[in-house]
Amino acid sequence: MNESDAMTQTALEPNDTARQPTSALPSTARVVVIGGGAVGCSVLYHLASMGWADCVLLEKNELTSGSTWHAAGNCPNFVGSWTMMKIQSYSTKLYRELGALVDYPMNYHVTGAIRLAHSRQRMEEFRHVEAMGRQMGVEFQEMSNREMQDIYPFLETHDLYGGQWDPLDGDIDPAQLTQALAKGARDLGAKIVRFCPVTAVEHVQDEWVITTPNGTIRAEYVVNAAGYRAAELGRMFGRDVPCVSLAHQYLITEPIAELTARDTKLPLLRDPDSSYYLRQEKDGLLLGPYEKNCRAHWVDASDPMPDDFSFQLYNDDLERLEWYIEDACARVPLLGTAGITRVVNGPIPYAPDGLPLIGPMPGVPNAFEACVFTFGIVQAGGAGRLLAEMIVEGETESDSWAVDPRRFTDHVDQAYTTAKAIETYSHEYAMHFPQIQWPAGRKAKLSPLYDRLAAAGAEFGSYGGWERADWFPKNDADRRPADSYDRQHWFDTVGEECRHVAAHAGILELTGFSRFHLKGDGAADWLASLVTGNLPRVGRIGLVYFASAKGKVLTEMSATRLAEDEFLLITGAGAYWHDRDLLNRSLPDTGHITLTDTTRDYATLLVTGPKSPAIIAAASGISTAQADFPWLSHQPCQIAGCGVAAIRVSFAGEAGWEIHCDMADVVAVYDAIMAAGAPHQLGHFGMLALDSMRLEKGYRSWKSDLTSDYTMLESGLGRWVKFDKDDFVGRAALQAEHQDGSQRQFVMLTLDDPIDGNTDPFGEAVYLSVVQCYGVDSGLVVSSGYGHRVNKSIAMAVVDTDKLASASQITVTVLGRPRAAHLVPAHALYDPNNEKLRG
Ligand SMILES: Cc1cc2nc3c(=O)[nH]c(=O)nc-3n(C[C@H](O)[C@H](O)[C@H](O)COP(=O)(O)OP(=O)(O)OC[C@H]3O[C@@H](n4cnc5c(N)ncnc54)[C@H](O)[C@@H]3O)c2cc1C
Repeated sequence: MNESDAMTQTALEPNDTARQPTSALPSTARVVVIGGGAVGCSVLYHLASMGWADCVLLEKNELTSGSTWHAAGNCPNFVGSWTMMKIQSYSTKLYRELGALVDYPMNYHVTGAIRLAHSRQRMEEFRHVEAMGRQMGVEFQEMSNREMQDIYPFLETHDLYGGQWDPLDGDIDPAQLTQALAKGARDLGAKIVRFCPVTAVEHVQDEWVITTPNGTIRAEYVVNAAGYRAAELGRMFGRDVPCVSLAHQYLITEPIAELTARDTKLPLLRDPDSSYYLRQEKDGLLLGPYEKNCRAHWVDASDPMPDDFSFQLYNDDLERLEWYIEDACARVPLLGTAGITRVVNGPIPYAPDGLPLIGPMPGVPNAFEACVFTFGIVQAGGAGRLLAEMIVEGETESDSWAVDPRRFTDHVDQAYTTAKAIETYSHEYAMHFPQIQWPAGRKAKLSPLYDRLAAAGAEFGSYGGWERADWFPKNDADRRPADSYDRQHWFDTVGEECRHVAAHAGILELTGFSRFHLKGDGAADWLASLVTGNLPRVGRIGLVYFASAKGKVLTEMSATRLAEDEFLLITGAGAYWHDRDLLNRSLPDTGHITLTDTTRDYATLLVTGPKSPAIIAAASGISTAQADFPWLSHQPCQIAGCGVAAIRVSFAGEAGWEIHCDMADVVAVYDAIMAAGAPHQLGHFGMLALDSMRLEKGYRSWKSDLTSDYTMLESGLGRWVKFDKDDFVGRAALQAEHQDGSQRQFVMLTLDDPIDGNTDPFGEAVYLSVVQCYGVDSGLVVSSGYGHRVNKSIAMAVVDTDKLASASQITVTVLGRPRAAHLVPAHALYDPNNEKLRG
């Protein structure tokens, strides 16, 4: 927004007599959206646009009175996450058309933006984002220093590496945006009631009863869009929303003659290495830094959130910004010529990872969240569409796990949220190198084995809050975190771990698997109706997949069948609340079937490699011969006097066992296995080695290559779809796709070594590389890395079927550089016939 608008809003602050609801509260609505900022209004507009006009928005005060009125209104397309770029690029497109669509005046200056690079690494980040942008029609362009000066004549470039241009960046008036969305929603029949705070909610007989001082309203669905008050509102639902208000400031200068003299507005300028944005505001400049020592507000009883902070700001605190102001003045000396006329210091809501919460409220039926937006102006449009899709259609066009509220689970409390949010804010513009994990909020969930593994030298990573060994550095110098996009310093160590497992045997603690014990009459029939494939026989283990109604991949679980109607369902640490809700929401109400969450009760050790049969036999006394204990079977046994379940599977693709034991027994069981393994050279390995080995086997990983962006068939999981079984969720859509042929298909590729540099492809969901056939963009890499047992760079991708069919040459761009790629026909590079697995 601009300064004069801010002043106008403040002047419009309602007096007491105005604090009456602006229209009568309807008694019912299909959806009630709580909160009238940019996001709430966008949700309402998109619900109405999709035909759900019977929706009501309740706003405590005036529209925009939360964080929206004072936002700087910058609308970048640039962002390192695929999901967020989809959200933001949808918004910027909508905003260019919105004024005309809803007939409302719109101050949206599409000035374009320059992003500065101080280093080669930064430029590589830009190239990576450029490749992502190309996939969704956002044309970022690399710029030389000269080109930057041509369009930004006040810029000092002598120490820069170059930059990047986003022609579609700009700034919008957030108040106008919100009012335009509100008008669009009202015109379509939706209702907005202002000065109507929600004070309580209750779920009664499948309906929400929402209480306000002006009466109650009943609704099928409810949306928390309460901005920085999301946690307060969340408590009414019994939900702890991970949200903290940080103080974010920008300053505005007095008019500058050189800008007054120009007839075009300057492009936006971002200096990510110095951590600020700078843009023209009327004839002055607006500077907003993300400083290192930002301040959190309203986190404990000594600093309570006031009942009403509408249209209010925190006190200025320019001292915190001194370094950034000086740095920006050196970069754009014109800035230093003008005095400061106004400072805006307002609450900006942050989740631990700085991304918003858009999706189902964890554990609460028919309730959704669209809150905790750090960049809620540029994200409002896309977020509104995403949530409306979720509510109206029951699923979204593309995967939204990056913003799904269920990505934060039971370890995320206020202290964790505050620590991570402050860390994220101070790294807002930092480069996210592969595998990097910032240090705050660690050791949230520890297994009793943690100290043993730390003593063995493990370097840990956080997996759904659980600490697991990532790799075992050879010396202290090797412990440093990832510090570039190049091949990391742990490359050789991880390679040695893989080769040791392949030659002898390795042990890795996988504690933190999410576990659900399913039991009772009809359990098997119920489970079969949810999954696309067959269930394993009693005594066996198998993978089961859950699809959406459109046939897209929702999740994968391993199902161990303990009895006819009894299963142990195991899924990833990060999938904990997602999968819990998926199962709970369709659990029949008969009372016969029980689902028990046993996640915290058990630990898992993976013992794998050609010597593992001898080690497990020595530790447990059972026969591990293939005839007695075949691949994909399980047996109870005793290790160190403790009852354990031994399951014959290995994600590493070697002969191997997962040993599942009581959490309290894991140290004793580990000690016994280590002792039994000593003569067989049993060694430690970590998650990085496991990831390398599973790639070589073509095994998928949830939310990297198993996402709801693609259907089961597109993901290459056809052999887990059984059309000859009774009905299951997604069957009709998959059957139709099966008949018509899939438009996209899963491929496994190897990449030639890089000619320049030593960069490995880095997939893992956020890092998307582009597959080209004949030079035409044809698909995306969903998962990638280096296979140390086969000595090759590997990429798994989903590509356009037709383009692939006519391709004579395939390339994958890694950080903007093309690499020749080759199809792996068997979808497995290592032991494609599973001979090693079978032992
Ligand atoms: C200084 C500053 C600069 C910024 N610059 C940018 C920028 O350039 N670009 C960008 O994208 N973002 C920017 N932001 C962030 C942006 O302001 C927010 O992300 C965005 O406004 C959030 O919108 P919202 O609708 O989620 O929340 P809000 O605007 O806070 O709206 C939430 C609404 O919910 C209402 N509410 C709360 N509780 C209840 C209740 N119990 N009952 C009924 N109503 C309730 C509140 O009154 C409020 O109106 C900036 C933030 C700050 C502080």
